[in-house]
Amino acid sequence: LEHQLTQSQKMEAIGTLTGGIAHDFNNILTAIIGYSTMMQVQLGEDHPLQAKVREILRASERAANLTRSLLAYSRKQVTNPAAVGLNAILTNLEVMLRRLIPENIEFRMHPASAELSVLADAGQIEQVVMNLAVNARDAMANGGVLSISTDRIILDQEFVSAHGYGLPGSYALITVADTGIGMDEKTRDRIFEPFFTTKEPGKGTGLGLAMVYGIVKQHSGFINCYSELGHGTVFRIYLPLIDPPTPSECIAVDDVVHGGE
Ligand code: ADP
Repeated sequence: LEHQLTQSQKMEAIGTLTGGIAHDFNNILTAIIGYSTMMQVQLGEDHPLQAKVREILRASERAANLTRSLLAYSRKQVTNPAAVGLNAILTNLEVMLRRLIPENIEFRMHPASAELSVLADAGQIEQVVMNLAVNARDAMANGGVLSISTDRIILDQEFVSAHGYGLPGSYALITVADTGIGMDEKTRDRIFEPFFTTKEPGKGTGLGLAMVYGIVKQHSGFINCYSELGHGTVFRIYLPLIDPPTPSECIAVDDVVHGGE
């Protein structure tokens, strides 16, 4: 039993491995795509080999997408963090989300009443919400309710000790809940692993939640999943808030600066 890795040690080990492979593959793909594009130009539009070069490019782009997901999982991708509002990000996504969701699923949005500022790469946060929404849709083939909400939440030491993760502080909370098929415990234990999927071949890559996990981690946040077979699933994502300090905190800082005067 002393050889048994904890869940997070296992995730770290897979992350290191996939990150290394994905990084090298990315360089190889850059060469293939670069030379194929040059060939395309040099052959000229009417050349009989154009169709074959196009296939090489298409396959390479697919592979590049895959390595991008793996880099996100292993937290080796480039990010452009800025102070962004979570509600604003969700509002931007709403049209796309509604297009994604069929008629038999009711879609509810519950944004927090005040904007929640986080230091984040907006594109990556969009990716996180999209991936969770696609999975929720897939879990509700017979219809149901998808709800996405944001809240402000303070995690105290008591919460952190009780749950065994995170750090005390103020967080923005994103909740994505569905009333779909849910998962058993064996499935839930593995959902964040890259390439783990229960979907038919060709339907799922098993990279969606691995990406979500990596992105959330890279944003110093954490994610949990509560699921009940036959009833539905709830994902909660906590991202550190970057609100200005409260007046009482300012006074404390002031005291230090002017102490002894
Ligand atoms: P994929 O969607 O390609 O299978 P993911 O990493 O996004 O890959 O998800 C992994 C697995 O987690 C899914 O195949 C499914 O079994 C399970 N899963 C994820 N989200 C949900 C959900 N909302 N309800 C039920 N099962 C889910």
